[in-house]
Order: sequence, then C-alpha cells, then structure tokens
Amino acid sequence: MFRPLDWFLGLMSLDIGIDLGTANTLVCIRDQGIVINEPSWVAINKRTRKPLAIGAEAREMVGRTPADIVAIRPLRDGVISEFEITEAMLDYFIKKTHEQMIVPFPRPRVVVGIPSGVTEVEKRAVYDATIQAGARAAYLIEEPMAAAIGAGLPIIESRGSMIVDIGGGTTEVAVFSMGGIVISRSIRVAGDEMDEDIMQYARSKYNLLIGERMAERAKIAIGSAFPLAEERTMTLRGRNLISGLPQSIEMSSIELREAIAPSVNIIVDTVKDAIDETPPELVADLMESGICLAGGGAQIKGLADRIEDTVKIRTWVAEDSLTCVARGAGKVLDDLDSYARVLVGLQRGSTHH
Ligand code: ADP
Ligand code: MG
Repeated sequence: MFRPLDWFLGLMSLDIGIDLGTANTLVCIRDQGIVINEPSWVAINKRTRKPLAIGAEAREMVGRTPADIVAIRPLRDGVISEFEITEAMLDYFIKKTHEQMIVPFPRPRVVVGIPSGVTEVEKRAVYDATIQAGARAAYLIEEPMAAAIGAGLPIIESRGSMIVDIGGGTTEVAVFSMGGIVISRSIRVAGDEMDEDIMQYARSKYNLLIGERMAERAKIAIGSAFPLAEERTMTLRGRNLISGLPQSIEMSSIELREAIAPSVNIIVDTVKDAIDETPPELVADLMESGICLAGGGAQIKGLADRIEDTVKIRTWVAEDSLTCVARGAGKVLDDLDSYARVLVGLQRGSTHH
C-alpha cells in the first residue's frame, strides 16, 4: 500500500543500508526499499587505473572491452583488492542514491555491510570512503549479521539461529545468539565457483568452451542440488575446442547437478562443520528455529532440501534472499539503540593511507 506520509518522511530522514557484495551492490532506503541493485563491477583504464564506468554499465563491457580498458570486480574474493576502485564504486552508489532523492539536502546516515573477516585497514577504507561520499554518519556491519536481520531472524534473543549466505564470491555461515556471532565460517566457494564448475564440465565432457555468463544462465535456469520433480534441459552455446567452430549442445539438469556438485558439496560440508562446532544448547535451538539461507546462491533449486537432508535440521530460503543484507543494514538505523552492539567497531587511528 502506498502511504504518502511515510514516503515523505523517508525522503526527509535519509537512512540507507548498503550491501557491498562480491557480485552485486544493493542500496536500501528506509520506507522505500531497494533503490539500487547493480553488479559490483568497475571498468577502468588499464594504464591510469581511473574508473570509466561503474555498476551495470561496467558489467555490460565485460568481455567486450578494447585493449586499454579492463572490467573488474574489486570485491570478488570477499576482500578489498583495490581500495581506490572500491572507494570509487561506493562513492558512485551513494551519490546515485542521493540524486534519486527529491529533497536532497539531508546528508544520509549509512550502514554498510562488509564481508566478515575483512582487515582493520579494509574496514577503515570503507568507513572513510562512506564519509567522503557525503554520509553524515557511517556504520559497518558484518554481512551475515545484516543478512540475518534482513531475513527476520531473532539475533538479539538468547535463542540460537543460523544463516548461510551464499553470494557470488563467498559463502558465509554464522550461528547467532544474544546479538553476537557464536560460530562463523567464510569460504571462497559460492555462485561464481559453480559457474566455473559448469564451464569446466562442458569443456571436459563436450570439448565445448562456454563463457561465464552462459554458465551462469544455465545455473540459474536449471542448476540444482537435489533431484528435481521434473528434470529439464537447456541449450548451451559456445565454441568447440577441437574444430574451433561455434557449437550448441543440450545439457540436462541431471548433468548440471553433477557439474556443480563439487561446489555444492563444499558448501554443505561447511554448514555441517559449523553445526558440529556449535554448542549443544544452541544446536537444540536450531532444531526448532531451523537454518535460513540467504544471498543469490540460496536460490539454487533443491539446495535447502539438500542441506536439510544432510544435517537433519529444517532449512528454508529467506524471502527475497538477494536483498537480505541491504534490507538488514537499512533496518539497523530504525533502532540504532538496540542494534548498536551488532555493529563493527573501528580501532582508532588505523588508516590505509
Ligand atoms: P554477493 O552478495 O556476493 O554480491 P549475491 O547474493 O548478489 O552475491 O548473489 C550472487 C550470486 O547468486 C551469483 O553467483 C548469481 O549467479 C547467483 N544467483 C542469482 N540468482 C540465482 C538463481 N535464481 N539461482 C541460482 N543462483 C542465482
Ligand atoms: Mg552478499
């Protein structure tokens, strides 16, 4: 339902949550929801390393850039490999959000979700970049924490809960209790790795060289982690490695499941390990509350069934799993008092310059 007053207040008190993901960056504004959802790509000049395009525009250039331009994902592995480029990206998305406001004068308060395990220097870089981009106040939150808040898990309560956030570059597993992370695991196996698996499979089984985006399309269309009620097929197009000519093949969902199994198995094992390490009282809680999957990778068909089948704990996919982190980060500002202790503290004086 459209509520004009809420909408107007949203414009006046600009509070935004940002999910700085390895694959996608999302911005959520209180009372307006997700206003930006773009790939975390930056096209730069190879020589000067100056950003030329950011977000969707940069992603369009992937695989099509002239020799002096290269498109990169500065957060690909869940670490900030290039500070300046990450800063440019953050700056672009914050300014773009601000531009969309009808009343642009209040400077926003911003909560940024960062991968867990980033270094002190990286945190400081994100904080400084957020302030530089015009934020009135900046706060950092670990992504699994934001994902759990966005998914509506009761992380502040003493009752344990668990999130598995499967993104592009990383999968993060966390068990929460009383507003803290009790157990956490972060691995560099997630959606991208499944795309790699598919490329590898097509190459070794059919001598077919396919692109990353074709592999991702196949994964989204027919990828699965558990037998499907109705198995399907899809046409993959690429280049035959022997003849050098274009070729298309039909791949079944059964083959695709076999293709992505290496990554799926690692993710499932990581969940199992995390549960093995969880104190028994909290495991008892999880048996009641279940395991929540978030992130784009959570939408692999049958993944929840597969995890449930392995660990014997009810598992479900969060509503709108791709936007959990951004919505969770946005929600923190609704009630900064209760959520203050879930935010990431910055050590004084650390700087990346
Ligand atoms: P990050 O938080 O790392 O930026 P996201 O949570 O945005 O990542 O998820 C991106 C990943 O999710 C990509 O690997 C993408 O291919 C995958 N993905 C998105 N939608 C689907 C879908 N419907 N089924 C399977 N995978 C998906
Ligand atoms: Mg994410």
